[in-house]
Amino acid sequence: MNPQIRPLTADERRGLAAARLVAVENAPYLAHALFSTRPVAAVGLATFAVDRHWRLYVDPATLTEWGPQVAGAVLVHEVNHLIRDHAGRAASLGGQVDHKRWNFATDAAINDDLIRAGLPLPEWVVTPAALGLPDAGVEEAYYAALTPEGKPDAPEDGQEDAGEGGCGSGAGDPVQPWEPGLDDPTMPGLDDGQVAITRRQVAEQIRDAVAKGRGTVPAGMQRWAESELTAPAVPWRKVLAGMVKRCTSLTIGRVTYSYMKPGRRQIPGIITPAMRAPRVTAAEVIDTSASMADDDLAVCLSETNGVIKAVGGSVRIIACDADADTARVVRNARDVKLIGGGGTDMRVGIAAAEALRPAPDVIVCISDGGTPWPDRPTRAHLIVVLTRPHFADRVPSWARVLVVDAAQRAVAG
Ligand SMILES: [Zn+2]
Repeated sequence: MNPQIRPLTADERRGLAAARLVAVENAPYLAHALFSTRPVAAVGLATFAVDRHWRLYVDPATLTEWGPQVAGAVLVHEVNHLIRDHAGRAASLGGQVDHKRWNFATDAAINDDLIRAGLPLPEWVVTPAALGLPDAGVEEAYYAALTPEGKPDAPEDGQEDAGEGGCGSGAGDPVQPWEPGLDDPTMPGLDDGQVAITRRQVAEQIRDAVAKGRGTVPAGMQRWAESELTAPAVPWRKVLAGMVKRCTSLTIGRVTYSYMKPGRRQIPGIITPAMRAPRVTAAEVIDTSASMADDDLAVCLSETNGVIKAVGGSVRIIACDADADTARVVRNARDVKLIGGGGTDMRVGIAAAEALRPAPDVIVCISDGGTPWPDRPTRAHLIVVLTRPHFADRVPSWARVLVVDAAQRAVAG
């Protein structure tokens, strides 16, 4: 049964305002996000949900039943779906998305952080433990780990009744037929531009909260804010394209105009050659040794997003201190698990990157530079991004060095 969507009554608005106060108290760094949502009543929904235009659907009966404490915690949960861009990330999962599985994965990832931050979530919420998954994982990894049927261990009752749409299209569910249009005069939502601006403002608020030591901002959210606010310093498309050109001059036939397979866009009556442009295959090695400070890691995240965009969607990343972690395919820098903290030897990570299949054309290694480097040229082109300028002369001459000074966020080299 579709819920009935209408503006909130004055009474319902007061009830929601009380819940929102609790939410702001629990997560002051999300105040702007909480006040940017567009609340509407969804009679019969039996829960709260969000859509991709930042409308917040509130079943008035549920709001009354939960009371301000629980409702406030659930508001923080819903806003997390929006901030973490679960809609956009669902779209980039590829293939047929199992929405139920994605909803479990995202709920588990959110609730894990909120419970650790001490929020009074209802007992029945989905957690990694309830799904038999490790704590502190990222959404895409949880999604992959869950069985196609949706859940290895059925969560407690209450979950299944969360409605056909789970937490809504703002959490990555399909757009529901009952969602008002973007321009609905009585219940307008945020358009894409407004969403982008809001996300940036939320990131700024989180950064300020961290700087002023206000409240406990979960580490993942701090890193998200940093990468959201920092554009990559390196023009990666240009740098990598230059590398590819050099690759192709060495490898004859890598770029070919082929008449064997017709181009995708066929002009009727004319056979167009299909251009098989070489796509650069990149791997990244990130220094996670103890000497990497927060601003060094912030450089890692913003430059990683630049690399990901330039290569068209995802990159294989190896976290490395004195040992190399297994490579992970990452579509957004916020999903990089920066584990490590020991000594430093980037040679190990670079060797692991060279051993990947398919072999990378380019290896990007981001480090503060306090590491030994390979003494022989790697088969892949090596680009070294240094977050500190003073070790630049240690990098071997056959590698390309780019200095992105973490203290200034300016690129040189
Ligand atoms: Zn949810």
